[in-house]
Amino acid sequence: MASSSVDTDVLVVGAGPTGLMLANQLVRRGVRTLIIDRHEGPARETRALGVQARTLEIYSHLGIVEQALELGKRATGANMWAHGRRAARVPVADIGRDTSPYSFLLILGQDDNERLLGEALRRQGMDVQWNTELIGLAQQQDRVVAAVRNPNGTTRELTAAWVGGCDGARSAVRELSGIEFQGAPYQHVFFVADTQMTGPMVPDELNIYLWPGGFHLFFPMRGVDHWRVVGILPAALRGRDSVTLDDVAPSIRQEAGAGLSFQHCSWFSTYRIHHRRAERFRDRRCFLLGDAAHIHSPVGAQGMNTGLQDAYNLGWKLALVASGRAGAALLDSYEIERIPVARRLLSTTDRLFSAAVSDTTFAGLFRTRLFPKIAALAMRIERLRKLAFRTISQTGIHYRTSPLSETLPGLPDAGPRAGDRFPWLRVALSPNGSGEDLFQQLDDTRFTLILVGQPAPAEGVPGLRDLLCTLVISDDPVNQRELARVHIARPSFYLLRPDGHVGLCGTRLDAAAVSRYVSERLTAGHA
Ligand SMILES: Cc1cc2nc3c(=O)[nH]c(=O)nc-3n(C[C@H](O)[C@H](O)[C@H](O)COP(=O)(O)OP(=O)(O)OC[C@H]3O[C@@H](n4cnc5c(N)ncnc54)[C@H](O)[C@@H]3O)c2cc1C
Repeated sequence: MASSSVDTDVLVVGAGPTGLMLANQLVRRGVRTLIIDRHEGPARETRALGVQARTLEIYSHLGIVEQALELGKRATGANMWAHGRRAARVPVADIGRDTSPYSFLLILGQDDNERLLGEALRRQGMDVQWNTELIGLAQQQDRVVAAVRNPNGTTRELTAAWVGGCDGARSAVRELSGIEFQGAPYQHVFFVADTQMTGPMVPDELNIYLWPGGFHLFFPMRGVDHWRVVGILPAALRGRDSVTLDDVAPSIRQEAGAGLSFQHCSWFSTYRIHHRRAERFRDRRCFLLGDAAHIHSPVGAQGMNTGLQDAYNLGWKLALVASGRAGAALLDSYEIERIPVARRLLSTTDRLFSAAVSDTTFAGLFRTRLFPKIAALAMRIERLRKLAFRTISQTGIHYRTSPLSETLPGLPDAGPRAGDRFPWLRVALSPNGSGEDLFQQLDDTRFTLILVGQPAPAEGVPGLRDLLCTLVISDDPVNQRELARVHIARPSFYLLRPDGHVGLCGTRLDAAAVSRYVSERLTAGHA
């Protein structure tokens, strides 16, 4: 069991989206948690804007998805402009139909996301300790001693069994743990402006202005004529101390048309983008998540979402270990599963970003003449559209090579394998029932055993006790069609981890295999 001799089981450092998600996941599983942040209150800037389908699936379990959908705007189309003309429109409404209940990209600012996550935490009786900064860390065999600066300037020591370093790109947890942040800055400087403006852009849709030297992105935001403009700072302005929207407005107008009229700017900021990854995501009892572990260009709206999912991956594992229900070895799987995700993300965003900002003649021609046509054409091809959605929405992330993933022989290669996020299905769960959203039936604080074309064993399944729920998908015609669509064979079984990824799967349920899986992969090393 967790030691009562420590002040808290988990100290979460940083109350950005990643820290708030980690604290939520721990508190709802009953783990003693403290969350601190050196700022005096929540961030007010919108910063990240895109909320991906996988994040919305997680929000649904947290009970905040309805509010997020109400506050945000669904992206319905992307319009590409070049040389003052609309070169192509790519429809993206419902692009992930059949893949997720949230088959779209939601445009919702980071400030709103943080507010919803903060409110969810408060509903569980926990609030962030603001104005509280981590300044020192010492690891002992069974605890971490953290030195923190209090709001009144004094310092104190806090002891925790585990520390979640969610403290952003300049992470103190990372630096105090001596973990290198490998990578480099890009030479380009970005600007972001939250504005109220009118102009030729298509309302309520993403507008992308492509020009020989780069691009400008206009994201529609909540409210009338509210737009987020993102672009590359013109070279002549780089290195200047204070740049305003007025300085960049001529370059935006040059590409987006003289008819563009800015009424108001609520936030303007410039920033230098880096691509960096922590060489390890863990030092003994301290973990790195979110921007503390990886930063990259904002291409693809992945940054905030990846941090949220780091937290979702670590949350259930840390909760099981902190409550004494799993061995500490389970925590090894966090970086084994999340480093490859970050590595792939960095290399993809780096390639896309380099292509997007390259100022060679060929790149300029490609961007303004070929890219819009290729993108529009590709999205008409069902297979490519699905692939694009799975990649961008993060629903395609899998942990197939993780030590927590075991596929027993006999399942078709085309169907889900261990490590995959179990596919979204609409199934009838009672005789003569209609198709229900399977994800609504999953309890993400427990494991779920899904049995297809076979009954639940009368004697139960040993090993997970109250941590297991069982769902039987019968041979109903509605179910048969859905199962065939995602290549799930009958009979088959899938043991889902709390985060919805398949841990163990096979054909006919083998209770001994489940029990071995639990003892070798979850409870191993636990006294
Ligand atoms: C200007 C700007 C625009 C961006 N636009 C986009 C975008 O369009 N799309 C996108 O996906 N991403 C974007 N990002 C990136 C996105 O904001 C980050 O990926 C996201 O904030 C990461 O969340 P996080 O919780 O990991 O870290 P952060 O949001 O950085 O939160 C870290 C928290 O830790 C706290 N902290 C730091 N040190 C300590 C300490 N020693 N003790 C206690 N607390 C500490 C900080 O106060 C902060 O609240 C943008 C970032 C910036 C700066």
